[in-house]
Amino acid sequence: MKKISIPGFRNNSKGKKIAATIYYIWALLSCFSRGWGFSMVLLSAPFIILSFIDIIKLKKHHLPNKTAIISFFTAMAVFAFGTFLVYESFFQKGVTSNLPGIIGDTKAGEVDSIPDITTDQLKVHFLNVGQAESILIQQGQHAMLIDAGNLRSGRSIVEYMNKNGIYKLDYVIATHPHLDHIGGMPKVIQDMDIDKFIAPKVPHNSGTYKKVLTNLNRKGINVNKPIVGTSYALGDATFEVLAPNNDHYESLNDYSVVIKLNYKNTSFLFTGDAQWTSEQEMLKNGVNLNADVLKVGHHGSRTSTTTSFLKAVSPKYAVISAGRNNLFGHPTLYTVKKLLDYGVHVYRTDKSGTIVSVSDGEKIIFNAKAEPYRQNRVVKNIAVFSAKINRKFGQISRLYGWNNRWVIN
Ligand SMILES: [Zn+2]
Repeated sequence: MKKISIPGFRNNSKGKKIAATIYYIWALLSCFSRGWGFSMVLLSAPFIILSFIDIIKLKKHHLPNKTAIISFFTAMAVFAFGTFLVYESFFQKGVTSNLPGIIGDTKAGEVDSIPDITTDQLKVHFLNVGQAESILIQQGQHAMLIDAGNLRSGRSIVEYMNKNGIYKLDYVIATHPHLDHIGGMPKVIQDMDIDKFIAPKVPHNSGTYKKVLTNLNRKGINVNKPIVGTSYALGDATFEVLAPNNDHYESLNDYSVVIKLNYKNTSFLFTGDAQWTSEQEMLKNGVNLNADVLKVGHHGSRTSTTTSFLKAVSPKYAVISAGRNNLFGHPTLYTVKKLLDYGVHVYRTDKSGTIVSVSDGEKIIFNAKAEPYRQNRVVKNIAVFSAKINRKFGQISRLYGWNNRWVIN
């Protein structure tokens, strides 16, 4: 049987070997930024193409093609598994949890109940909705929802709220019209009683966005434009709108509604997908950004959490909402490292599932394990290297106007 040969190294062409080496290194490194799924797809693709060509060629000349067939199917299996990992992180169905005490799509052995919230507590649920975002906030009998996950999250979010005894929401905020934030919103609007709906005024053409507007219309709910400086009460808690500070942005992410939630002596900052442009505007405004918990902007992407912003917020805790093995490489190692270097306790829905934090007004507790701090030189160097490449790519993409196409979620 012939040995399986590696595409790019099948003959003595130096150019091909160099190109193939660069490709394989990129494919391997991309697991750090884009997840294992993407890496597997990249690595298996050349094997699929070349072994398929081999099968045809050998068959034509009536030569044995068993090795090529084995190579083809093995590569196909790797490709399929990689695609599955990417898909799963994108379209995760339910509000899942790896932690006991969380209601959702509970697996066997998990506790299917959570103690009732007492009136003197604030409870913030960072729902695990895959590569998307949805946050439920409770204070006493009052509740609000920030975003509603992806296209398949609607039903599970409603079920999660119902199981927690919530049928009415004082506020719903749709931070911005991207699918990973308003995907499940039509269902939420349809099934829940909503007092106030807050969303930025920005034209958007997706079918889901139109459905959101149709459902709001059907239930006679108005859309309130977020006005910076406006405060709202949620039971004994209050929240203030901090962004958007402008009517026009290059990126849809910067239209994100940013709010700071205060409960007695504790505070949370929810940033949606706001990027550095919006962060700089908030800094310029001179508002007090300082908060105990920072919901990290844009799933921990490099486009957010600039150093000056992080310093101004100086959080004790940070929560990142991202899907396991997601294609976007969220959160970037760079951002996680930066937060850890600042001594912040980092929680991630892609690691812990749904995360619940409770504030009694003085201290905040989490039901999840924080990201361990590893002083690993190799990891640190990879993070810095990948951030440099990303920054270069960002500059190039801005130059050619690709930004909106790439930063899509
Ligand atoms: Zn997003």
